[in-house]
Amino acid sequence: MFDNLSEKLNTIFKKLKGHGHLTEEHINKALKEVKLALLEADVNYKVVKEFLNRVKEKAIGQEVMRSLTPAQQVIKIVRDELTTLMGGSGAELNLKGMPSIIMLVGLQGSGKTTTCAKLAKFLKEKGGKSSYLVPADTYRPAAIEQLQKLGQQLGIEVFPAQNSQTPMEICINALTEARRRGYDAIIIDTAGRLHIDEKMMDELKQLKERLMPQEILLVADAMTGQDAVNIAKTFNQALGITGVILTKMEGDARGGAALSIKAVTQKPIKFVGVGEKLNALEVFYPDRVASRILGMGDILSLIEKAEETMDVQKAKELERKIRKSEFTLEDFRDQLRRIRKMGSLEQILSMIPGLSQMKQFKNLQIDERELVRIEAIINSMTKEERLRPEIINGKRRKRIAYGSGTTVQEINRLLKNYNETKKMIKSFTKKGKKGKRINLID
Ligand code: GDP
Repeated sequence: MFDNLSEKLNTIFKKLKGHGHLTEEHINKALKEVKLALLEADVNYKVVKEFLNRVKEKAIGQEVMRSLTPAQQVIKIVRDELTTLMGGSGAELNLKGMPSIIMLVGLQGSGKTTTCAKLAKFLKEKGGKSSYLVPADTYRPAAIEQLQKLGQQLGIEVFPAQNSQTPMEICINALTEARRRGYDAIIIDTAGRLHIDEKMMDELKQLKERLMPQEILLVADAMTGQDAVNIAKTFNQALGITGVILTKMEGDARGGAALSIKAVTQKPIKFVGVGEKLNALEVFYPDRVASRILGMGDILSLIEKAEETMDVQKAKELERKIRKSEFTLEDFRDQLRRIRKMGSLEQILSMIPGLSQMKQFKNLQIDERELVRIEAIINSMTKEERLRPEIINGKRRKRIAYGSGTTVQEINRLLKNYNETKKMIKSFTKKGKKGKRINLID
């Protein structure tokens, strides 16, 4: 999925990261290459142009965020814009009806019948919803039997349609039956054609008017690139769709359809098919896909988590304290809490590419319980002790150990760690002042 595009963008950003300081020229050159990469990925030309204008506007002349290097910031802008391009936070299925009526439409061979079965399985397993599968594709020979077989495989009921019935008859009868039997959803496999034709659209329009479905999802083959985009556009104009399911994504190294459909049709991609097996259906999350395209592991989510948990005001206050050597055990405890809020330490380390391979981290065992104990120790101190740890003498150490259910040795170790952290943070801020940064990505 997106392999070619991903590879190209990575090469471009690697070059960008190589420059310590970014000029407008560097950014322009990189964006020109991004443009080529997107065009080669078969993204719609107009979409590429608008996309680049938005990135350029944000990337040039913007104030540099302290937590990211300029190159990381450009990558973040590209990532954010790719996310918006593909539909932002993702679109959910409307499952309001009783039952919810979901119509799958599309051309022959797009994967419509298979996707009906995949969707029923998905709703059952992920949403605990019962579906009734309705084979209304009377046009393609064997489509009815195909859905019946798939339903059997999954243990999902299929309406017993006859080829002699019209799609309208099948759907109305199936809906009555689904209501009677209390299904949560009916999923209709409508008739496709080899090419878009008027008769098919008329048939679908009539079904839409009569059934008033909550969802009309166009199933399109991602491998066909801009053809899929044009098909989506035509179906949307003629029928009005609520979203798209792109199939065969696992074989699509370019990704042009996935990147253009939302911008061209204004309708979101809701799912992607990623294989022939019936569990190969994934919810489409634009933000995750964008990160995957940029191939940065989870590094951006790490940065975001850090930003989320690091209140700007607090960060400034902390920096001031560190400069003035006022970093107390209370601040130390705050930092610990912040780190724990970000997730488990191992998880955080594993998100940083390359780090887990480094010699000194390879055998590192992080004991989460240790963090809890440290917090307990600090909590057992008086406020004065937390603010002026140097007053913690032997007697106080004994009392704290008793209060926190730990030992004096542990108190000693904690105080030593605290002093070392204080020193380390101080050295980081000194480097920071000289303009050196801790680069999370390289
Ligand atoms: P329909 O004519 O639109 O109903 O298409 P089918 O459901 O019969 O699918 C056509 C072919 O595409 C079948 O061989 C499916 O197994 C295959 N197919 C469907 N979805 C996917 C997918 O996401 N990935 C792959 N590789 N094949 C798929």
